[in-house]
Amino acid sequence: MPPRSERLNNLPPYVFSVIGDRLRELQAQGINVIRLDIGNPDMPPPSDVVDKLAASAENPANHGYTGYRGDAAFRRAVADYYQRRFNVKLHPDKEVLPLIGSKEGIVNLSLAYLDKGDIALVPDIGYPSYSMGALLAGGDVHWVAVREDNDFLPDLMAIPVDVLGRARLLWINYPNNPTGVTVEQSFYERVAAFCVEHDILLVSDNAYIDVVYDGYKAPSALQTNVGRSHTVELFSFSKSYNMAGWRLGAAVGPENAISDLLRVKSNIDSGHFKAIYDAGSEALNSISPSWIEERNAVYQRRRDRVMAALPSIGLSARLPGGALYVWARVEDIDMTQYVEDALIQAHVSIAPGLAYGPGGAQHVRISLGVPDDQLEIALERLQSWYANR
Ligand SMILES: *Cc1c(COP(=O)(O)O)cnc(C)c1O
Repeated sequence: MPPRSERLNNLPPYVFSVIGDRLRELQAQGINVIRLDIGNPDMPPPSDVVDKLAASAENPANHGYTGYRGDAAFRRAVADYYQRRFNVKLHPDKEVLPLIGSKEGIVNLSLAYLDKGDIALVPDIGYPSYSMGALLAGGDVHWVAVREDNDFLPDLMAIPVDVLGRARLLWINYPNNPTGVTVEQSFYERVAAFCVEHDILLVSDNAYIDVVYDGYKAPSALQTNVGRSHTVELFSFSKSYNMAGWRLGAAVGPENAISDLLRVKSNIDSGHFKAIYDAGSEALNSISPSWIEERNAVYQRRRDRVMAALPSIGLSARLPGGALYVWARVEDIDMTQYVEDALIQAHVSIAPGLAYGPGGAQHVRISLGVPDDQLEIALERLQSWYANR
C-alpha cells in the first residue's frame, strides 16, 4: 500500500463513526446499549412523502442522471418555501442548489473557499464537520468561543485582526446543535454586517429550522437587509422532516457562491435520484404546520422529561429552545469518565462534549431522537448507576 496523504493523516476519524464501532463491539458481547449520542430522528416522514418516492420510482423515465443543478421542480419548491415562509426571494435556477445532505455542502463549500493559509471561523462548540471540512480543504481553523456567559453566541469581537485578514468562512448554526440555543433575526443582521465588513462568507447551517419548542419560529439568515451578498444558508430535510437517511438538502444564497459550490460538486457527484427530488418537493409543498407542531410536541415532552431527570444524574442544563438535544454540564465527575461509565456501567451512550470543540470539555450531549420507552429506560439506568456509584 502507498502511504496515506498528509490530508488524511491530519483528519481524525469522525467521532460518531468511532462511537458506532465501539457500540458494535459491546453489542457483539450481547450488551444492549441505548443510544442517546446520535442526532437521528426516530419518527418517519409524512406518508405522502414516502408515497411520492414510491410512485416516482415506478416511472421508468425517472432512473437516469438528473443533471448537476438537480431537478428544476425541486429548486422551485425550495424557492417557493423561502418566499412563503420567510418572504425571501430566490432565483430557483441561480440561487438554489440541491445538496446530498448539508454535511456534503459543508465540506464542499470548504473546498470552494479555503486554500492553504486561509482560515475558517468555526464555533467552539459546534457541529464537527465545520472544522473537518477546513482540514480536508487544507485550510486552518480558528475557534470562535461560544460560551454560556455569552448566551452560547459567537464572540466575534474576540477574533484577532490578523485572523480576520485570512478568514474566508464563518459557520453559524441556530437553532443550535449541540446547545439548543435559538436566535432572533437581529442576530443575523449583526453577524452578516460583520461578514460584509470583513469580506467573509457567512454560512448559516440551518439544519433545525423546523425543530423548535414553546411556540418559537426560527428566522432565516437570508432575511437580513444588509448581508445577502455574503450569506449562504444550508437547508436540510434530515431533522426538520425526519428524512436523515434520504440525504437531501439545499444550499441557497448569492449566485456567485452557488456557482462556486456547483463547480466543486459537479466534479464530485452527479445529483440525486429523481424520486428523491420528487419526494423532497412533496415535503416542501405539502407538509402542514400541524404535522411539524405535533412532531415537535413529542420532542418537547422528551426534552422536559430529560430536564427533570438531570439533577438525579449529576447534570445541569439550560432549557433548549430548538434542535434535538440537551447540552448538559457534568457537575462533579470528569466528563470523559462520565461518558465512559454511563456506557460501560449503565449501557447508555451519550455524546462527549469534546466532540464539539475544546470548549465542550465539561459537557455532554443527550439526544431527544429516541422513542419514549427507550428514553425512559435509559434515564432509569443512568439514575440507578449514578445513585450507586
Ligand atoms: C445533523 C446536522 C447536519 C447534517 O445534516 P444532513 O443534511 O443530514 O447532512 C448538519 N449540521 C448540523 C448542525 C446538524 O446537526
